[in-house]
Amino acid sequence: MLIILMKTLPLIILLASFIYACGQEKKESEKMKQEERKFEINKSEEEWKKELTPEEYQVLREQGTERAFTGEYYHHKEKGTYLCAACGNELFSSEHKYESGSGWPSYWQPINHSAVKTEMDKSHGMIRNEIECNKCGSHLGHVFEDGPQPTGLRYCINSISLDFKKR
Ligand code: FE
Repeated sequence: MLIILMKTLPLIILLASFIYACGQEKKESEKMKQEERKFEINKSEEEWKKELTPEEYQVLREQGTERAFTGEYYHHKEKGTYLCAACGNELFSSEHKYESGSGWPSYWQPINHSAVKTEMDKSHGMIRNEIECNKCGSHLGHVFEDGPQPTGLRYCINSISLDFKKR
């Protein structure tokens, strides 16, 4: 019995350390995933529910979409800055807004490189690039590759996800 144990012990140790290493690696990747989702503003869904109207909550926190041609800023032409309706982060400038005919306010670029975050969205049987506020992670809309030059991009944004600051 002792001889068998002595012969197999190194193998058992090797196997145990391998299982341990795999577990650690999984923990690490889960931790990284969580960290990736961390934004400068981190509120619980309960807190967001208290702060936002039910309509805002549905779009900003549950990836909803307002009905086309119904939003406050679709035909909005004043000069100024569009902010995140959830946290006030500056997102888009009126200088980059254009008439896309889509029914939602459209911009060919964000106000700066760090204003928004792009995430792959596989919901509703489509693969789209979701746009989130880079400060609070709230859902804003989607970006498509049929916009005007110089970027060729169309940031298609829900009015309800936006506030406006006049210049
Ligand atoms: Fe935000």
